[in-house]
Amino acid sequence: MQGLIQEDNGEEHVRLSDALEHVADLEPRQVRVEIRAAGVCGSDLSCVHGKYYMPTPLVPGHEAAGVVVEIGSAVTYCSVGDHVVLSTFGNCGHCPTCEGGDPGNCGFGGLRHTHVEGDQALWGFANLGAFAQETIVHENQAVPIPTEVPLTSAALIGCGVMTGAGAVFNRAQVAVGDRVVVVGAGGVGLNVIQAARLSGASQIIAIDRAPSKERTATEFGATDFLLADSDDFDAVAAVQQLSGGGVDHAFEVVGSTKLLADAISMARAGGNVCAVGVPDLTATVTYPFQALHQNKNLLGIRAGGGKPRRDFPLLANLYLRGMLRLDELVSHTAGLDGLQEAFDALKAGAEARTVLLPHG
Ligand SMILES: [Zn+2]
Ligand SMILES: [Zn+2]
Repeated sequence: MQGLIQEDNGEEHVRLSDALEHVADLEPRQVRVEIRAAGVCGSDLSCVHGKYYMPTPLVPGHEAAGVVVEIGSAVTYCSVGDHVVLSTFGNCGHCPTCEGGDPGNCGFGGLRHTHVEGDQALWGFANLGAFAQETIVHENQAVPIPTEVPLTSAALIGCGVMTGAGAVFNRAQVAVGDRVVVVGAGGVGLNVIQAARLSGASQIIAIDRAPSKERTATEFGATDFLLADSDDFDAVAAVQQLSGGGVDHAFEVVGSTKLLADAISMARAGGNVCAVGVPDLTATVTYPFQALHQNKNLLGIRAGGGKPRRDFPLLANLYLRGMLRLDELVSHTAGLDGLQEAFDALKAGAEARTVLLPHG
């Protein structure tokens, strides 16, 4: 099959292979998924740059949807023909944390090889290796959704939508009337915005450095837009003024330690500061102590605090009822050979999302 291989850290070390194979036959609780769509997320860029400290060589890609084509002898979660969104949680499924309903906090999943090329075993990013025509995953990582949702849009549920909407629904728990600021209005930020709108937020301030984001942010539910296009722009002062003294929830979505420190100062006393974006995992955040001191809650958030088996179908159904925008998040589609162009677009910060279609 075709798939992308990251030989080493750096965009120049990613290449397309025609000779990818599964690492082994199906185990009893595994499923084989034909990947129909895989989004290119900021985390893919971070992975390729080595900021997730993944071993190489690996098959990148982690935000995907597809069709189940084969199931192991003990699989009960899905059937052949099901449309599934892949979950980035390679969780074990049977430890107290998983049994308690928090698969994202499971510490027992471990990292595994997903594919081989010749006799070279390849790691799979997020145990998925989604930039390939097929992958084999534990059934925990394949969540059925209604077939009415187009797979190109459904792919985004697995990461960008879950990460943004989950931060609002699961972690911050935005309530009717709350004031929100969203720093970064890209693929994830737009989902923070639309989830805050669904939660009844009375003010949603979006901040981005690209003027083109104003229209999209507004369409997704932002009530105010601040253009941070120069180093002189004082975003903290602007948010303090617009919100009348600070917001109830400040979401940092860019993955910048400096912006996370700013977000702390944007929250009102007693408010939430939500670290949605992911910088280099070894980064250190420094902030003025007094900014956090007054009963603020600093929330670490991994993948929207998601519970995929509950949240993926919920998000799919919100889409089918016209309440959640997914199609509008996809700005481009391309084949597997379109990754570099998608990375360039991400770095330029001008668009929402490219989705790769491994089967064309
Ligand atoms: Zn577990
Ligand atoms: Zn992602």
